[in-house]
Amino acid sequence: MKVIMLGAPGAGKGTQAKQIADKYSIPHISTGDIFRANIKNGTELGKKAKTYMDQGLLVPDELVVELVADRIQQDDCKNGFVLDGFPRTIPQAEALDAALENINEKMDYAIDVDVPDENIINRMSGRRACLNCGATYHIVSIPTKVEGICDRCGSPVVLRDDDKPETVKRRLEVYHEQTQPLINYYKKQDILRTVNGVQPMEDVFKSIVEILGA
Ligand code: ADP
Ligand code: ADP
Ligand code: ZN
Repeated sequence: MKVIMLGAPGAGKGTQAKQIADKYSIPHISTGDIFRANIKNGTELGKKAKTYMDQGLLVPDELVVELVADRIQQDDCKNGFVLDGFPRTIPQAEALDAALENINEKMDYAIDVDVPDENIINRMSGRRACLNCGATYHIVSIPTKVEGICDRCGSPVVLRDDDKPETVKRRLEVYHEQTQPLINYYKKQDILRTVNGVQPMEDVFKSIVEILGA
């Protein structure tokens, strides 16, 4: 099963993608997580990506397309994968289609997790991320068991630099301009499915399982 998660920053793509990956035993591929790991390890890619991420802008297509094209051809992707945060532009979507076509494959579903802008700022200011294992929490709706500490690995959880309100506004603008057009792109391919993202996360997941099948 090959699935794309679409939706605004903070819509819950990552939260849902992790559960999809667990249930269907496929890898969760988050380009944001890949960039953050590169930043943490001080790689060249990380240094380049950071300048864009800190401003709430997208990293240029050429820095991300090849990375994903390589990743989805690794062995663990044989039974599928869930893409979270990629594609984010029409050229990225076209590059993904081309890479899959080369190996006679295509995406099965693009799931749009629909959350209005009004809810996004609150989601992002309350988001706490573990930069060690990638887990995400929300101080109100999905809190850690011990305040400030990741349930999964015990590392501190933090407010991401790009989750500050000023940057979130910019990211939302960028989303509407560059990423939202993908909704129509996948509608035309007849693989778009929309779920209401303003429900408890368990209910969002139920809606997704109805689409993907138990
Ligand atoms: P969120 O989950 O809140 O949408 P991500 O972790 O997916 O955030 O992305 C964080 C930042 O990483 C983005 O704002 C952007 O700068 C960069 N990024 C991640 N994926 C991509 C991509 N496919 N294309 C360009 N930039 C990306
Ligand atoms: P994205 O990957 O789309 O940027 P996340 O999965 O990181 O979004 O979720 C953004 C924030 O909202 C996180 O703090 C997360 O814990 C929280 N969140 C996710 N799903 C829900 C939900 N259904 N209801 C309330 N909060 C949620
Ligand atoms: Zn952790």
